[in-house]
Amino acid sequence: MLESLSERLEGALKVLKGENKLTEINVAASIKEIRRALVDADVSYKIAKEFTDRVKEKALGSDNVLKAVSPGQLMIKIVMDELTDLMGGQAAGLNLAGKPTVILIAGLQGSGKTTFSGKLAHWLKTQKKKSPLLVACDVYRPAAMDQLTVLAEQVGVPVYKEPESKNPVQIALKAIQYAIEHKCDVVIVDTAGRLAIDEEMMAEIKNIKEAILPQETLFVVDAMTGQDAVNTAQVFNETINFDGVVLTKMDGDTRGGAALSVKYTVGKPIKFASTGEKMDALELFYPDRMAQRILG
Ligand code: GDP
Repeated sequence: MLESLSERLEGALKVLKGENKLTEINVAASIKEIRRALVDADVSYKIAKEFTDRVKEKALGSDNVLKAVSPGQLMIKIVMDELTDLMGGQAAGLNLAGKPTVILIAGLQGSGKTTFSGKLAHWLKTQKKKSPLLVACDVYRPAAMDQLTVLAEQVGVPVYKEPESKNPVQIALKAIQYAIEHKCDVVIVDTAGRLAIDEEMMAEIKNIKEAILPQETLFVVDAMTGQDAVNTAQVFNETINFDGVVLTKMDGDTRGGAALSVKYTVGKPIKFASTGEKMDALELFYPDRMAQRILG
C-alpha cells in the first residue's frame, strides 16, 4: 500500500508544531512530501511541481495565521482545495439536450469503451429514465459487436448493428434514424479501438464525429496507464476535440493521479469513473472524492 499523504505530512509537519503560522521554512518541508505523494500517485513530476508551487504560494499567501486548525491541517486543506479546483470543482454532468442526444465513445483498444457504453446505457436508463440505443460501429472486430450485443441484452436496451457493413459513418447515421423511428432518446455510438499512432483510424473517428455531430464526445482512458493516459488524451483531443473524459478501471490499485494529469493537460472535465466489470459499476466523477483518493 502507498503511504498516505497525511502520514507523510505528519513527519514533515512535525516542524510546524508549536508554530501558529505557515512560514517559508516549515512550508518547504511539507511541499516536498506533497510532491512525492503526487508522483507516487502517478502525477507527472512536471505537473506535481507546478501544482506544489501554487500550493506554496497559497500557503504563504495573505491570511495564513492559524485560528482553529493546526498548520498540518491547514496545509492539507490547501492541497485538497487546490486539487479539487484543478480537477473541475463540481461534477460535470452530461449534455442530454439533443433529440435524440448523440454520444460518441472513443479511446484506445482495451481501454474499456464497450464496457462503458453498456454501463452508460444502464445509467441513463435507471438514473435518468432515458431510452438509450447502443450502436456497434467497430467494423473490424466481430467480437466487439457481439460483446456490445450481450451487454445491451444484460441492461435491457436495443442495439443497432450491421454485421455486413464496413462503413462506420453510415452505420452511425442510420442508427440515429433508427433511434428517431423507435423513440430512443439517446444514441450511444461505440467505436473501434484504435492506437493513437494509427492515423487512418484516427481519421475515421474524426469522420464519424463530423458526420453525426454528437452532443457529447467522450474519451475513455484506462486509469492504470498512468503517464501514457496523458499522451493518448492529448492526441485524441487534437483529433476530435472531445467534451469529457471517462476514467476506467478505477477499481484497480492506482491512486488515480492520471485524472489530475489528464485534466491539467487537456483541460477537459472528467465526467465518469468506471469501477469494475459489472454494468452498475459506474460513478459520476466527483473532483473532491478524487482529491481524497490521490492524497490517500
Ligand atoms: P474496449 O476495447 O475499449 O472496448 O474495452 P472493453 O470494454 O472490451 O474492456 C477491456 C477489458 O477491460 C475487459 O476485460 C473489461 O471487462 C475490462 N474492464 C472495462 N472496464 C473496467 C473497469 O472499470 N474495471 C475493471 N476491473 N475492468 C474493466
